[in-house]
This record gives sequence, C-alpha cells and structure tokens, in this order.
Amino acid sequence: MPPSPVTVVGAGIAGCACARALAEAGLPVRVLDRGRRPGGRMASRTLSDRTVDLGASYLTAREGSPFAAVVADWVARGLARPWTDTFAVAGPDGLGSTTTGPVRYAAPGGLRSLVADLAEGLDVTQERTVTRVEPGPRVDDEDVPAVVLAMPDPQARRLLDADTAGRLLDERPWEASLAVVLGWSERRWPADLHGAFVHDDPAVTWVADDGDRRGDGAPVLVAHTTPELAAAHLEDRDAAAGPVAAAVGRALGIDVPPAWTTVHRWTYARPAEARPEPFGLADGIGVCGDGWSAPSRVESAWTSGHLLGTELGGR
Ligand SMILES: Cc1cc2nc3c(=O)[nH]c(=O)nc-3n(C[C@H](O)[C@H](O)[C@H](O)COP(=O)(O)OP(=O)(O)OC[C@H]3O[C@@H](n4cnc5c(N)ncnc54)[C@H](O)[C@@H]3O)c2cc1C
Repeated sequence: MPPSPVTVVGAGIAGCACARALAEAGLPVRVLDRGRRPGGRMASRTLSDRTVDLGASYLTAREGSPFAAVVADWVARGLARPWTDTFAVAGPDGLGSTTTGPVRYAAPGGLRSLVADLAEGLDVTQERTVTRVEPGPRVDDEDVPAVVLAMPDPQARRLLDADTAGRLLDERPWEASLAVVLGWSERRWPADLHGAFVHDDPAVTWVADDGDRRGDGAPVLVAHTTPELAAAHLEDRDAAAGPVAAAVGRALGIDVPPAWTTVHRWTYARPAEARPEPFGLADGIGVCGDGWSAPSRVESAWTSGHLLGTELGGR
C-alpha cells in the first residue's frame, strides 16, 4: 500500500490554501471535510433561486501581499470583483455618515466559489467527519506523515487529546453570530447603499446588500447579529428573525417587513482575538485558520494556511 498522504482536515480557505502549498511542494496531500461542499465560513446558499452569502461578507487583500496575487487572479477570471470601499454607518436614529476603507471584494457566484476554485485539482473528500487526531501523528487510527487542523480552535480541540491541545492551542474565547437573510419584493433602501455598519444596537452589527455585492440587484439584505443576541438564540435561532428585521428596519429606515427571512447559526464565527503568530505546529500536527495571522478575516485564514503548507512542504 502507498503511504498515507499529508492530511488536511477542513476545506475552508485555510485548509485549501495549505493543501495547495503542500501540493505545489510536490507532497501527496488530501483534504477531509465534514461539510457537503468546500467553503467553511465562506458559505453561500441558494435561497429564493439565487446565491446568498451567509458567512463572510467580503474579503480584503493587503496590497503587494501573496494573497493579493490570488485575488487578482480571481478578478482576472471573473470569479471575484472589486465591490466597494465605502459603507454607510447607522446608529439608533438610522443612517448617518459613510466610512471609507480598503477595497472589499465580492464574488458573483458567492464567496464559496472562491474556495471551490482553490480546491480544484486537490484530492478533497467531503462529508467525512474526522473524530480523532493523536500524536504519531494519527488521524482516526491511520498513520500519516503530518496532519493539519484548519478550523476554529474549539473544533480542533475536540479532535485532540488534552496534552496536544494544550501545546498547540489555548482557551481563548470564540464568538457566535447569526446571519439573517431578509428578502423583499423590491428594494426599499437607498440605491447607493452597499452595506452598513450598525453601531449601538443590541441586535445587529452589520447589514450587507446582497444584491449589490452579487451584482444582480436582488432586494435581499444579510444582517449579522451581535454575539450577545446570537448566544441568546443558539437553541432557537429562528426566533431571532423578528428582532433582527426590526433592527434592520430602524437602521436603514425600512418601514415594510421583509417578505421572507432565513437564519443561519455560526457557533464559532470568529475568535474574540486572533493570535499574531502565523500558525501552530508540533510533532507533525499543525493548526491554522483565522485564529492565527491576526486580525481574524479571510485574508489571515488564507495566509495562515499558506504559510503552514509552505513550512511543511519545505521539511
Ligand atoms: C458571520 C461571519 C461574517 C464574516 N465576515 C467576514 C468578512 O466580511 N470579511 C472577512 O475577511 N472575514 C469574515 N469572516 C471570517 C471568515 O469567514 C473566516 O476568517 C474564514 O472563512 C475562516 O476560514 P478557515 O478556513 O480558517 O475556517 P472555516 O471556514 O471555518 O473552515 C473550517 C472547515 O473545517 C471543517 N471541519 C471542522 N471540523 C471538522 C471535522 N471534525 N472533520 C472534518 N472537517 C471539519 C468545516 O466543515 C469547515 O469547512 C466572517 C465570518 C462569519 C462567520
């Protein structure tokens, strides 16, 4: 039997970036993921006959960075597009000023399509839940040359014995969030609104215009909740739709309730604080993702996975 390949657990952007770097270094590598498709928290789902982004809203890329080259390639191939550098700011009294920052990129096919592109040509097995990673290293009782856990810390901890977890990870908290999709029959908010940061609201922190970022103009918004509202609704997430729709109405001045809503739960949306180190690695067991290469975002998850794959590939 041929030796088992280096095994990456998690087909989010960190795991796929890691596996690509390993494959480019000439190592046999496979990716195992418990979901139905690659993407992880860059999740897109078909709702009301179109794709909606339920996890990350957009991505950014620091100019001149290796990730910027990946994004430029996606843009050149029409998979990603520069969305906007300007968002509205809303408070308890509704829309106020705007704020400008780096260019945010969106994907016409949903952000998941970008992870699927990274996974192209890799050996990826979906719907495979890994249950145990032990020193050796061993993955579910199989000896492997090295294993990478590319996922939120609390999910990685579940796979490791206490000793290994203690060496690689710490107890830093991870925050929950709910993504609430709200659809209307027509747009009921300002035409130039791309998205809005919502300040001082107990329910909502951010609202994205999904039709605007996708480019089809559909009257669909996606609101992300405060960690507190999410924590209070983890067991009954649908009950959050009402308070979130009311908060979005207040923030954007919409006086008609949405025609439909869908709520998605992210138990581990983001670390309260990511680490500055690029990844963790001890005795052939590596950990990467947006808990590393702070601050936590798509770009750091890619960077963390890429650097860990490069390190393992060079050994
Ligand atoms: C609501 C929300 C909004 C966000 N907004 C933004 C934003 O606007 N901009 C931005 O840059 N970032 C944003 N982020 C963060 C961004 O989504 C993450 O930084 C990035 O997607 C993390 O990628 P990852 O590969 O590290 O982890 P993940 O995408 O979580 O991938 C982990 C993978 O591991 C798999 N897995 C877990 N356990 C197992 C197991 N036991 N066996 C097999 N597979 C397993 C999962 O199925 C998953 O596919 C947001 C996140 C959320 C949740």
